[in-house]
Amino acid sequence: MHTARLIPATLAACLALLLAACSERSPPTAPTAPPPQAAPGPSASSSALATEAECQALVRRLPNLRMPLCMQAQLRDSGERSVKGLPLYTRDLQPESSKLRVLVLGAIHGDELSSASVAFHWIALARDPVITTPQPIHWRFVPVLNPDGLFHQPPRRMNANGVDLNRNFPTPNWERDAAIYWNERVRKDPRRWPGPKAMSEPETKFVHAQMVDFKPDLIVSIHAPYGVLDFDGPSVPPSKLGRLYLDQVGIFPGSLGNYGGVHKGVPVVTVELPNAMRTPLDSETRQMWVDLLRWMSERLGPSVR
Ligand SMILES: [Zn+2]
Repeated sequence: MHTARLIPATLAACLALLLAACSERSPPTAPTAPPPQAAPGPSASSSALATEAECQALVRRLPNLRMPLCMQAQLRDSGERSVKGLPLYTRDLQPESSKLRVLVLGAIHGDELSSASVAFHWIALARDPVITTPQPIHWRFVPVLNPDGLFHQPPRRMNANGVDLNRNFPTPNWERDAAIYWNERVRKDPRRWPGPKAMSEPETKFVHAQMVDFKPDLIVSIHAPYGVLDFDGPSVPPSKLGRLYLDQVGIFPGSLGNYGGVHKGVPVVTVELPNAMRTPLDSETRQMWVDLLRWMSERLGPSVR
């Protein structure tokens, strides 16, 4: 992995400008939204944009998300579906001559509502021409990886099959280690069921397909509510993003950090927001983004691949 790259003075000036920006936190939205209807099969609506009704459902469900932010995100139907048939939406931002690819995932756990909201706010920041990076970056956002869990009443961690998607990735010796983890370590806690076999779930397969096809140089997975930063894989981890400080808490069988970072050698930054129901202040969300870009500028160079 590449070593330090200096941030140009212009970027530093931009970062300073951002530090001055501040806005108020919005009250959390009560999770009373009815789930959107299952969409038609992949061939019928592949690459269609998210509709106003779908954004309305997300706005009702998620804290600190308003219609303009959702509509401007221009989420596109990937063609892939959750267990219950909901579209898995993505948003790509691809500047000319971008060589670095970054995959950002929100709400792999459906009850971590703030993680999806922060992904929407980061999409807006990725479009902000004031915030630049030395290397143009091709971003791919998946703000809601687990829509079935997110729209469950009440929202729940697992997908519609009751699987903890962040234990379902095909890490080495998954059959043995995931069974030990579930039976002994978490004593069959249903919130942490790894599933019947590795990569049994469509949402997990979707992430795996992104890793194969999109070939991200970095994966950022947003969670809540532990209020820390975790890191798996090569490179020097970021010491902090905003007020979240690095605290590497170990690895789990079938987790994305274990699979992507340790097994596949793709750095995985795991952001654990401090509250699952409320987003950080917008200024803090922005500071996390700025710190992420700063770390990427220093640690991810064009010669990574
Ligand atoms: Zn989580």
